[in-house]
Amino acid sequence: MSTTHHTKTLIIGSGPAGCTAAIYAARASLEPIMVRGLQPGGQLTITTDVENYPGFAETIQGPWLMEQMEAQAKHVGTVILDDIIVDADFSVRPFRMTGDSGDVYTSDSVIISTGASARWLGLPSEEKFMGLGVSACATCDGFFYRGKEVAVIGGGNTAVEEALYLTNHASKVTLIHRRNELRSEKILQTRLLNNDKVEVIWDTTLEEILGNEAAGGALPLGGSMTPPGVTGLRLKNVKTNEESTINVDGVFIAIGHDPNTGIFKGQLDMDDNGYIITKPGTPLTSIPGVFAAGDVQDHTYQQAVTAAGTGCMAALDAERFIADLEDQANAAE
Ligand code: FAD
Ligand code: NAP
Repeated sequence: MSTTHHTKTLIIGSGPAGCTAAIYAARASLEPIMVRGLQPGGQLTITTDVENYPGFAETIQGPWLMEQMEAQAKHVGTVILDDIIVDADFSVRPFRMTGDSGDVYTSDSVIISTGASARWLGLPSEEKFMGLGVSACATCDGFFYRGKEVAVIGGGNTAVEEALYLTNHASKVTLIHRRNELRSEKILQTRLLNNDKVEVIWDTTLEEILGNEAAGGALPLGGSMTPPGVTGLRLKNVKTNEESTINVDGVFIAIGHDPNTGIFKGQLDMDDNGYIITKPGTPLTSIPGVFAAGDVQDHTYQQAVTAAGTGCMAALDAERFIADLEDQANAAE
């Protein structure tokens, strides 16, 4: 049977933005509910070393950091629920959201901190070999490539970190980047380029992932019982248009992220890439009482600390919004 939950502040998402918003909202007596979504703890739960979150002199682990943030949010009184918001109606007051569980959430203010999800290239072969050698998470799947050869696509921080992580397991890691310059931080570039297990192929795009199809698909010539999975990549040099193939057992796509804003489309102002537009320097969206924090409204910085910072701002603004609502209600009595 479905339940209706009411709160002064509903927080959608449990990454650094959501957890920080929850800590501040709970301490402001807003009695927040935080809905954790499909990825409790957010993107940092799929990485290992975190070296740039202030307060920790030694390297810490992403999943541990998020456990701590959630524990802190709970400790100060946040109600944390496992559900995925599948529908939001910001045209009614209180705002009304529905969870995948069937539960209904009504709230006087909402903090959207749904973050971003890994982007895919959109190749048919990528879909065909998804889970059969194609991945977007080295920390989740790297272990399966012990002693094998893998490739990483992309040139940002994620791609370089994924490649470095994979050197712990794979015998060789080939990073393939569409330009001749990496976008990632210099310290990571130096580590990558100094690692003997790494080769970088510049100015090159992935055209097709090659491999043996799963049962039901066409078997390779001869119809052998080769296990399904990735065996290689067809590449194209973007400067010469020359094509080549390399042999790999797996490929990790690390080409950035898209904001998780599908359920809010048509209700909030968004940019062309689906990021929620906030009033510059604030978490205010186009609807009073709806705030956005973290990667969902930030395509520039996308760091745990900036997500946490904007989560704090969203909760402080939610507190002011609720106080104004209460003043208005008192004045009307
Ligand atoms: P996210 O962390 O993306 O969390 C989003 C949350 O929203 C999740 O809990 C998800 O379950 C929830 N959600 C989504 N949709 C719904 C829904 N419909 N209903 C309910 N909940 C929903 N940054 C650093 O500063 N240092 C690092 O070392 C670092 N390493 C990284 C390594 C990797 C591999 C990646 C991918 C990112 C890394 N980042 C790092 C970036 C950092 O993780 C992000 O900037 C940060 O997590 C963004 O926080 P967020 O709270 O905005 O969103
Ligand atoms: P990103 O910085 O947007 O980089 C994406 C990379 O993929 C770029 O090199 C881009 O190439 C490439 N790319 C994009 N689309 C492509 C396509 N269709 N085909 C081939 N290549 C493509 O994304 P990210 O690396 O996931 O990082 C996202 C954010 O999280 C960043 O702000 C980053 O700093 C942060 N982050 C931080 C850390 C850390 O602090 N240690 C770790 C991970 C992530 P171009 O360079 O040519 O555009």
